[in-house]
Amino acid sequence: MTNIILLGPPGAGKGTQASHLVESRNMTQLSTGDMLREAQTSGTEMGKKVAAIMAEGKLVTDQIVIGLIREKLQEGSEGGFIFDGFPRTLPQADALAKLLDEMGLKLNTVIEMQVDDEVLVERVVNRAAEAKAAGKPVRADDTADAMRTRLMEYYKKTSPLIGYYYAKGNLQRIDGMDTIDEVRKSIDWIMGS
Ligand code: ADP
Repeated sequence: MTNIILLGPPGAGKGTQASHLVESRNMTQLSTGDMLREAQTSGTEMGKKVAAIMAEGKLVTDQIVIGLIREKLQEGSEGGFIFDGFPRTLPQADALAKLLDEMGLKLNTVIEMQVDDEVLVERVVNRAAEAKAAGKPVRADDTADAMRTRLMEYYKKTSPLIGYYYAKGNLQRIDGMDTIDEVRKSIDWIMGS
């Protein structure tokens, strides 16, 4: 069983690659973004509270996302967990280390997906335009404005995790500018077949 983190800026393709890993390796994707969006649609107090923060592109509190992750970890996984969009801050990273430790689980690899900023903004704006054209719901934070905030949040609060995991010895970097298939191959190579 392998547990990994997909680390990278918004629009890097973490979700896409996580889906591949779910299919090919029977892993369990834990996306805090998806969990928070689900909480919004359920209309709970927590959902309402986070909706505005997310639409703006800011990070929700550590306490909320750590709580969500704790619940899901307790459900267990056969093929291992893929942390997608979590941790996003140093306190979240420390909390994850503690949770995994308590459960006797190990973090095997942190895969950093590197993509240039201009490409990220372009991807997200295109994703929104395509969804709109297809009559599908558009994410409230897939606007150029919110994307700029999301990127700033990433650089200020999440990018220090690159150094954190490098120091721990489990950081691997890949080129996320490649095609989806090439990126997938890079990840497969890191994870071994
Ligand atoms: P993306 O990676 O494309 O930015 P996500 O779906 O991972 O999108 O996250 C969307 C939003 O959800 C974030 O901008 C933030 O508001 C919130 N969010 C998701 N994960 C976290 C987290 N670990 N900590 C704080 N906020 C989070």
